[in-house]
Amino acid sequence: MTDILDIARRQVLDEGRGLSEQQVLEVLNLPDDRLEDLLALAHEVRMRWCGPEVEVEGIVSLKTGGCPEDCHFCSQSGKFESPVRSVWLNIPELVEAAKETARTGATEFCIVAAVRGPDERLMSQVREGVKAINDAVEINIACSLGMLTQEQVDELAAMGVHRYNHNLETARSHFPNVVTTHTWEERRDTLRMVKAAGMEVCCGGIVGMGETIEQRAEFAAQLAELEPDEVPLNFIAPRPGTPFADLPLVEGTDALRTIAAFRLALPRTILRYAGGRELTLGDLGTREGMLGGINAIIVGNYLTTLGRPAEKDLELLTDLKMPIKALSQTL
Ligand code: SF4
Repeated sequence: MTDILDIARRQVLDEGRGLSEQQVLEVLNLPDDRLEDLLALAHEVRMRWCGPEVEVEGIVSLKTGGCPEDCHFCSQSGKFESPVRSVWLNIPELVEAAKETARTGATEFCIVAAVRGPDERLMSQVREGVKAINDAVEINIACSLGMLTQEQVDELAAMGVHRYNHNLETARSHFPNVVTTHTWEERRDTLRMVKAAGMEVCCGGIVGMGETIEQRAEFAAQLAELEPDEVPLNFIAPRPGTPFADLPLVEGTDALRTIAAFRLALPRTILRYAGGRELTLGDLGTREGMLGGINAIIVGNYLTTLGRPAEKDLELLTDLKMPIKALSQTL
C-alpha cells in the first residue's frame, strides 16, 4: 500500500487538492515516529499554497456572557454555573481595542458577541461600532454574532464587514453531544448565507470535546466542503462550571497531528491558532505548529481566558522569519 504521506505529497503539495475524510483519518492514525515528517509536509503545503505570511488578528468581546445557548464547552452560556457574567463594551472602548490591535500589525479585528443571534440592540451597536472603527483606524473588521437572518447578513455585508466567524465547532455526528439548543445545520445555513453575500467565511471548531478520531476526520472533511477562507482551530480548555469541565486536555502530539492533518485537508485556507493552545502546546508547541501548517494567530487575550502576550507571538514570527501579512494584501 502506498504511504499516505507520499500520496499527500503528490495530491496536496503538487496539485493543491485537499485530503479526503478517509485520507485525513489515515494521517490522524500515523504513529508518533512519523510526526516530524507529517509536520514538515504540512509546512511545505502551507508555504506552497499560502506563502510565508502570517495573518494576525485581534478579537474583542462586545457582549460577554449570559448567552441563552448551551454549548457545553462555553463559559459564556447563561445555563451553567460559570463565573462569566453578562457585560457590554461601549463604543469608545471598542475603538480603543481596534487601535491597540492595529498597533500590533494585525489586519483583522473581530467583534464578538455571546448570543444565539443578534437582536436589534446588538445590530445597532455593531452598526455604530463598525462606523466608529472605520473612521478611526485602518483595519479589516470581522464579526462573530451567532446565527443570522438573511436581512442581517445583507446588512453586515452592506456595512463593509470583511469576514464573518461562525464555528461549526465539531463533526456533524458529534454536534448533538455538544449543543442541544440549536443544530449543526442551523449553523451551516448562516455560513452559506454569509458566503453567498460575498463576505469571507471564517469557520472552525474545538478539538478534544470527546469526539473520536473518525469524527475529527469527518469534521475536517465537512469544513473542506464549505471552502472557508479561515479556519480557527481551538483545543479544549475545560472551563469550570461547564459540562465539559472535566474533559482531559488534548495531548501535545495529537494536537500537532491534528493541525497538520487539517492543513492537508485545507491546503489554501488561513489556518489559525485560536484558544487553548497555551494549555495544550505551550511555547515549544506553538513554534512547532507554526512550522506544521498554521499561518495565522490571534494576538493578546481571548474572550474569557488570557492568551500569551502579543509581543511573545510577534517575536516568534520574527524568529521564524515569517512576515506579518500586510493590509494591502488582504484587500
Ligand atoms: S452560542 Fe456562542 S456564546 Fe453562546 S453558549 Fe454557544 S459558544 Fe457560547
